[in-house]
Amino acid sequence: MQVYLNDRVVPSAEAKISVFDHGFLYGDGIYETMRAYDGVVFMIDEHMRRLRRSAALIGLDIGKSTEELKLAIYETMQSNNLRAAYIRMTISRGVGAIGLDPALCKSPTFIVMAHEFKDYPKASYEEGLSLIISSVRRNLKEALNPQIKSLNFLNNILAKIEAIKADVDEALMLNAVGFLAEGTISNVFFMKDGILCTPSVECGILDGITRTIVLELASRNGITAEEGEFMPEDLYAASEVFITNSTMEVMPVRRVDDKHFEAGEVSKLLLSKYREEVSAYLREKQGESPSLWE
Ligand code: PLP
Repeated sequence: MQVYLNDRVVPSAEAKISVFDHGFLYGDGIYETMRAYDGVVFMIDEHMRRLRRSAALIGLDIGKSTEELKLAIYETMQSNNLRAAYIRMTISRGVGAIGLDPALCKSPTFIVMAHEFKDYPKASYEEGLSLIISSVRRNLKEALNPQIKSLNFLNNILAKIEAIKADVDEALMLNAVGFLAEGTISNVFFMKDGILCTPSVECGILDGITRTIVLELASRNGITAEEGEFMPEDLYAASEVFITNSTMEVMPVRRVDDKHFEAGEVSKLLLSKYREEVSAYLREKQGESPSLWE
């Protein structure tokens, strides 16, 4: 496997960072996760925009143009011979003496990793995933804003540990006042009284790129959607539930705690519309991919 480290692609065995890297010492850094289909990174501009927003929110100068960021992604894919890929771009504050002051780090550490994308089992899309509502609350947005896609991931990891102990696929977190927020790596949607409900950004969530597309697809397909404050009881009373992120797209949920759900019509419709959206994007972008691919 080849990894992009700082300014070039190197074999993974050589892709090493310092013990003084503030990403390692303090979780001081940001990242993005993307999915490439047939050689094209879906919604790459939106991911780059969100990366820059995360950087701005922590006062980090990435030190690369958006074009350079995109080229680094495509170069990493190409050097690993990948067309269907899971991609992670990580940027830490960089190497510096011990201490919290970001000025101790002279330049950020930049990493792109990519590996072959393995499809989720078909059965997951047919039967749905199992979830719990975790006892771990989502970080208060006034404390560590979930809109910063940060390397500081222990909030999510603590909820994930609970999911693993409960032998389920994903954990949903409530916000500090008890409203539904989001999963450890996903946004949540549910159908209640014919309305597609999802926690609003004000609840303290990451505004997922997939979430935004799903809301747009709902509106285009005559499905009324409401972004708001919802209680676990609203979710338990839903007729169907699904979660979203860039890698799993629209994934039905079969169980939340001891409530069971079918993979319903709305989940199926939005998954198929999402995949149409991906295909349309590929048709539009395939001609535009960097010349590296030709
Ligand atoms: N919420 C959290 C906490 C996440 O980590 C992710 C994805 O990694 C999402 C939501 C979904 O975001 P996206 O649809 O942009 O992949």
